[in-house]
Amino acid sequence: MQKFNYHTHTYRCGHADYNQSDEDYILEYIKMGFKDIAFTDHAPEKVKIDKRTNMRMNYQEREDYLSSIKHLKEKYKENINIKTGYEIEYLPGEEENLKELKNETDILILGQHFIYDDNKNLKIFGRNEFNNDELIRYANYIDEAFKLGIVSILAHPDIFMLSMNNFEDIEEKITHMICKSAEKYNIPLEINFGNIYGRVFLWNRNYDSLTLEEKNELLSRVRYPNRRFWQIASNYDIKVLYGIDAHFKGQILSYDKLVNIANDIIGKDTIDKLNFIDKL
Ligand SMILES: [Zn+2]
Ligand SMILES: [Zn+2]
Repeated sequence: MQKFNYHTHTYRCGHADYNQSDEDYILEYIKMGFKDIAFTDHAPEKVKIDKRTNMRMNYQEREDYLSSIKHLKEKYKENINIKTGYEIEYLPGEEENLKELKNETDILILGQHFIYDDNKNLKIFGRNEFNNDELIRYANYIDEAFKLGIVSILAHPDIFMLSMNNFEDIEEKITHMICKSAEKYNIPLEINFGNIYGRVFLWNRNYDSLTLEEKNELLSRVRYPNRRFWQIASNYDIKVLYGIDAHFKGQILSYDKLVNIANDIIGKDTIDKLNFIDKL
């Protein structure tokens, strides 16, 4: 089983556990036998575009964030390899700022949660409705971001399902667009565990003692990973990896269960067909 994870947040973003220090995440990783990890907290914005509160660190907090990780990297170098990074989002006009963030860190992962609408307001998955043109714009943003040459992983490529009810023609088209871009630029796609953890474990710490019916009810609320998305992805020549998207105490310790649930959702046939990477 994969023993690396390149998707870790910190309390600085404002919506991760406040009592979980950077070091606490590392101790959980070491306990789970991980050998290679990255911190990829939500990237700060030089000029504020995302007006939501509790979504990302302030731009000035970068130094504390990076120095804390570098200190821990040194402290735990015998046990685990630690990378610095950010989870970024592409917006036209932000190219230079994103390249600056890349220059400060080891890896950037693209976690595209929004696009500009025609009036340059943010449209956010899970909060707003998207029409077909806007979904295509989302897929185009991903392609534009890949083109910059600074992205190492596409996080939760199926997050657009947060705003969709069914998997129909447009969802299929968006999936093909994303997979074609990933294949062209050789960017691994992440099977993300964040939504599973949020919907299944976070408010149900007693998950194991639930009945099968109760478990299935919770699982039916999971929007990604999406089974159809990954079925289509498995027909492309792309690399994939799991991503914990850690925000909470104990989340990393649930890794084995999260892998099993994700595999169940996607289906064994598809999982067996997917090309999992050994390391980045
Ligand atoms: Zn987050
Ligand atoms: Zn994330």
